[in-house]
Amino acid sequence: MFENLSERLSGVFDRLTKQGALSEDDVKTALREVRVALLEADVSLPVARDFVKAVQEKATGQAVTKSVTPGQQVVKIVHDELKHVLQGDNEEPGELKIDNPPAPILMVGLQGSGKTTTTGKLAKRLTDKNGKRVLMASLDIYRPAAMQQLAVLGQQIGVDTLPIVPGETAVQIAKRAKQQATLGGYDVYMLDTAGRLQIDEVLMKEVEDVRDAVNPRETLLVVDGLTGQVAVEVAEEFDGKIGISGVVLTRMDGDGRGGAALSMRAVTGKPIKFVGLGEKMDALETFEPDRIAGRILGMGDIVALVEKAQETIEAEQAERMMKRFQKGRFNMNDMKMQLEQMQKMGGMEGLMGMMPGMAKMAKNVQDAGFDDKMIVRQIAMIQSMTKMERANPQILQASRKKRIAKGSGMEVSDLNKLLKMQRQMSDMMKKMGKMGKGKMLKSALG
Ligand code: GDP
Repeated sequence: MFENLSERLSGVFDRLTKQGALSEDDVKTALREVRVALLEADVSLPVARDFVKAVQEKATGQAVTKSVTPGQQVVKIVHDELKHVLQGDNEEPGELKIDNPPAPILMVGLQGSGKTTTTGKLAKRLTDKNGKRVLMASLDIYRPAAMQQLAVLGQQIGVDTLPIVPGETAVQIAKRAKQQATLGGYDVYMLDTAGRLQIDEVLMKEVEDVRDAVNPRETLLVVDGLTGQVAVEVAEEFDGKIGISGVVLTRMDGDGRGGAALSMRAVTGKPIKFVGLGEKMDALETFEPDRIAGRILGMGDIVALVEKAQETIEAEQAERMMKRFQKGRFNMNDMKMQLEQMQKMGGMEGLMGMMPGMAKMAKNVQDAGFDDKMIVRQIAMIQSMTKMERANPQILQASRKKRIAKGSGMEVSDLNKLLKMQRQMSDMMKKMGKMGKGKMLKSALG
């Protein structure tokens, strides 16, 4: 699917991972090559640029994890960034919203993109894998052959199709499909709309009317992955006019350069839900960003190695911190680490709820106006402190406080609240330290 890109990237990173130490220039050179490789794979320019920038920032900002080489760590950063580009900010599984039967799925796209084939593939998948009863209908009133094609496909895969009634409009067919799906107890009905060679107003209007008539649960755009950036442009256009819920990229079995897959999410904000990998009816895969990123980079072993090393480090860090707590030490570095942990673990309430004896305190801090947005600001305040101030927050007097507040764009009163929290935490740590050590370690580490 991504052979060329994959080959190019492995070349870059093979060299990088073999080096013991990396200079900033090494990373820059490597990333320049990555950028060229992405552009050659037909990834859009802004996406390639942002990608390289994000990797660069993370690579320079991150301390090197013990027991992995810097190059290996860069590979992991690139992997995560690839995943991020493919997936966007929120994780969405490739599954479809098909509750409330019968759920309408609208299939849209240009002629020849693989729309009818994909309709069949998806219907088969929903039938075989999800145990759904599916009804398919062709709305291509301009090409009787296309209607026939869907009927034949249906027979092949054992999925019902709506009987063809000549002379109906697309909206009439859609309404009949809905009626039949309701009466016949189908879970899903799929509407295979007419495509054109190019986007035109009449086509769009017709699809809009169908959309308004059935209110689809999913509107899937089928685009030819071989067309690269054009596929992304088509998606933008369809999304602007019709509103799509996801994309199916076809012909990803071909020797296309794969760039469409990488640009799609970043440019359109819409997820790729499936990829077509051949003409056969079972050649359809869910689009899993993690796996695809792994495939593109082809360095799964290294990614796993770095993940493992990072987990180990995190565990060691937690243990070291617990030891400090037992001694009743809790300074701003600990506070920062705690705050960052909170962010990772679903915010204030989640974390406080997990630690014994903290539920009450959670209420106190919430009353003091401490919410998840506040966590970000608290961290910013700590970042404005000097090393010495972090380790010894008790030295913070008026002038230091003013400087820190200014540096983080906050008020001194906010900083005072943070200091109060740190003192409370520190007191509590002291008390907990006096409770049997073994017991506390266990309950706090879960
Ligand atoms: P439509 O005009 O959009 O409905 O396109 P069709 O479904 O008729 O597909 C056009 C051609 O593309 C057919 O020959 C399909 O077999 C082929 N096709 C569709 N999806 C794929 C795919 O994922 N891989 C390959 N190699 N061919 C595909």
